[in-house]
Amino acid sequence: MNWKDCRAGRDFTLSDAPTGVQDAEITKDEAARRMAKNLRRCAQLQDALFAEGREGVVIVLQAMDAAGKDSTIKHVMTGMNPQGVKVTGFKQPSKEELAHDYLWRAVRALPERGCIAIFNRSYYEDVLVVDVHDMYKGYRMASRCIDESEEEFFHKRYRQINDFEEYLYENSFRVVKIFLNVSKETQKERFLARIDDETKNWKFSSSDLKERAYWDEYMKTYEAVIRATATKHSPWYVVPADKKWFARYLVSEILLDTLEACRPQYPELPRADRDNLAACRAALEAEDGGK
Ligand code: ATP
Ligand code: MG
Repeated sequence: MNWKDCRAGRDFTLSDAPTGVQDAEITKDEAARRMAKNLRRCAQLQDALFAEGREGVVIVLQAMDAAGKDSTIKHVMTGMNPQGVKVTGFKQPSKEELAHDYLWRAVRALPERGCIAIFNRSYYEDVLVVDVHDMYKGYRMASRCIDESEEEFFHKRYRQINDFEEYLYENSFRVVKIFLNVSKETQKERFLARIDDETKNWKFSSSDLKERAYWDEYMKTYEAVIRATATKHSPWYVVPADKKWFARYLVSEILLDTLEACRPQYPELPRADRDNLAACRAALEAEDGGK
């Protein structure tokens, strides 16, 4: 399985998507070697992207708890210039956020052109957890907005998300969505490790277990969401996440492909400015009598 196979389309079925690595597919060492190479190239491309300031990138990371979002961000972002990268976590919305439309906080986290924004969870929570727990029914919104069937409510949101991402694409931003696909068994192992290892206790919350009880609902909802919002300009990638090293390597490939697609070029100085550079060089060399 390579990163291109992770691309999910309108006919995507989650039960067919692998969570693990097939034997002999790739070794851990080989994946680490390729990832390091990818990240070196990503750092070069990011430098040019930033210098040029022509296109912005949003990487959306979605997953069940303990799928490895945080560590993926930590590993895949190494080598990037922090000046051009911003990570935003989307937790339960605050009172202020809930008083706005659901895209408001995402809009505030968008990058400038030339920069990369990593969304650790995102506005996709508004069609995932909000659907699984019927949260929208308690929202303070005009009845015309919530007094419709659940299906209608979320279909409208799918459309709004597609429109939002298209709008961004048409304004020189690329949105790439990644679902770290972990199995229920692996989640259990990682939860147990978080309980047993004192240094990992802080990562565990009993509410994680409550969400785990809705596993099947989440899978159904993820599948529907991915199908409805996988577009040519704003693709979804479903990455097997039972082995963190494999997931990270695949994410590095996706990031590299995304940055390459931007084709960033260092800006070329206008003729007059280039001539001026020569004059500046001459002035510097003339300092201290040309020593
Ligand atoms: P960790 O890996 O550290 O657990 P996390 O992303 O799960 O990171 P948490 O603070 O544990 O962070 O969880 C954030 C919670 O906020 C998630 O359960 C998520 O579903 C929820 N959440 C995010 N956006 C919304 C939203 N718009 N409405 C309701 N809940 C949301
Ligand atoms: Mg959590």
